[in-house]
Amino acid sequence: MRAIRVLERSVADRIAAGEVIERPASAVKELIENSLDAGARSVSVEVEGAGLRRIRVTDDGEGIPAEEVPRAFERFATSKIATVEDLGAIRTYGFRGEALPSIAAVARVTLTTRARDAGQATRIEVAGGVVESLGPHGAPPGTTVEVTRLFYNTPARMKFLKSPIRELALIAEVVQRMAMARHDVSFRLWVDGREAGRWPAASAIERVADLLGAGSAEALLPLEGIVPGGRAEGWLARPERTRPTRAGQYLFVNRRPVQSSLLRRAVEQGYAQLLPVGRFPIFAVFLEVDPGTVDVNMHPRKLDVRFADEGRMFGAVAHLTREALVGSPLVRRVTETMAPVPAALGGAASSPPGPFVLEAHEPSGRYERDAARRLPALRPLGQLLDTYILAEGPDGLYLIDQHAAHERVLYERLLAARRQGGVASQGLAVPLALEVTPAEMATVAGHLDHLATLGFAVELFGSRTLLLRAVPAPGRGAADALLHRAIAAIADERAGDDALERLTIATACHTAIRAGDRLGPDAVAALLADLAATEDPFTCFHGRPTIVAVTRADLERWFLRR
Ligand code: ADP
Ligand code: MG
Repeated sequence: MRAIRVLERSVADRIAAGEVIERPASAVKELIENSLDAGARSVSVEVEGAGLRRIRVTDDGEGIPAEEVPRAFERFATSKIATVEDLGAIRTYGFRGEALPSIAAVARVTLTTRARDAGQATRIEVAGGVVESLGPHGAPPGTTVEVTRLFYNTPARMKFLKSPIRELALIAEVVQRMAMARHDVSFRLWVDGREAGRWPAASAIERVADLLGAGSAEALLPLEGIVPGGRAEGWLARPERTRPTRAGQYLFVNRRPVQSSLLRRAVEQGYAQLLPVGRFPIFAVFLEVDPGTVDVNMHPRKLDVRFADEGRMFGAVAHLTREALVGSPLVRRVTETMAPVPAALGGAASSPPGPFVLEAHEPSGRYERDAARRLPALRPLGQLLDTYILAEGPDGLYLIDQHAAHERVLYERLLAARRQGGVASQGLAVPLALEVTPAEMATVAGHLDHLATLGFAVELFGSRTLLLRAVPAPGRGAADALLHRAIAAIADERAGDDALERLTIATACHTAIRAGDRLGPDAVAALLADLAATEDPFTCFHGRPTIVAVTRADLERWFLRR
């Protein structure tokens, strides 16, 4: 790296102005970016009190030479660019020399740094923009920046912050986005003294699969190809897996996480018509383009970028997405064989695609909620692949997703029980003591009433332990896993709906029969009867269909009987 210098006025004037540090997560982001710009192989982030009490970021990067340390806190002082031309082709995360002074203006900052070839480290303390101490210090190579009492002198800023749980979630999201941007670097996140996340250096696909919650890389469809000025690479969740919000969408330009609405709309256009209404796709897309073709200096917090040719970039990304989805054998198999619910049951009136039609068709309209719709009488035939129930109906073969169907059954039962004052509990023979994180503890403490309504009997037992005495009846699976899932659902404000609704959905989902569960004839018959008794037997609450049909007409057409 070059020496740290204050940018000339003419360069500084071109830097997009605006507030850099608006919440703890912005400080975390700036500090991680500095570590990555310093070539760190490993970055550790520790936060306390949702980042307001303390943020500490430690790296093993190249450090800052002792004599340059005070300059790092001057406004527009940076080692990363020098001229206006540099501003036109930025290759580092930072470039404006604003982060450290902005943080030091609203907090107390202690920076300890040792350049790789230096005999000892240097430590500087800055509070409210004033240097309080500076001198040699014992520390290994690399840099640690500790920020305490963030916003202590700006009460107005403090008022705009969200709840501690939410601010903590935003910090975790920043760490995850940076971890996805740099799979080659190992990251650790500590929250109030406990490890909350650890991502050892990994391949891109491993990191992406981990952070998208995809389970395994095979569940993702690869995207690859040329875009204006460079290449795109990415992984897309299949259109059957969606979210009610855009929280599962990750976009990167030259390894910088961005919230580009252009790119987001392009990817969503690629998914168009493959998604149920009101659901959003899950993906991670990385563009590597010539830095001269992208302007990262348009947003004060560097969240968005502008491309030299926005129209062509949009078209290229939409096209690559479409290709990845429709060209994939996995999706083709789904669209080849998926048969719609017949028109008599509210399905699309137009002639359904035959089994060998390859173009993607629109699943959404056919499964619209309609409380008046009822299942026809179904005669159980058996189970297929331990996942689907086969049944004969008045006009052909029906395939029912056993998990989706059971989720629907349980969900409606929980709703009914809620209306009648609460869900029945099932006591545990031995109360279960569960270690939880401080964030989980806070979530539970704030929603004990909701948990009780759903049939959980939970007590706070010390500062880190919960005592679980009962779970919703009928309980299924491990009680501790169910409670963790329930807590995660309450805390996941991004998932939409209110906390009680999220809790109900999570409980139904967790306790439902799973794909892979073998069911005997009685269980199959019982599930069909239960499904028939629901208000809305055709969809699970994730928007997926519970049931598809192969009609007599389909069969006749496939066997060329007509
Ligand atoms: P910018 O990143 O835009 O240059 P900052 O205010 O974030 O501005 O940092 C100022 C300078 O301090 C950087 O240019 C860099 O030289 C130095 N610096 C900050 N953090 C680190 C770090 N973790 N390791 C090495 N150098 C750092
Ligand atoms: Mg920086």
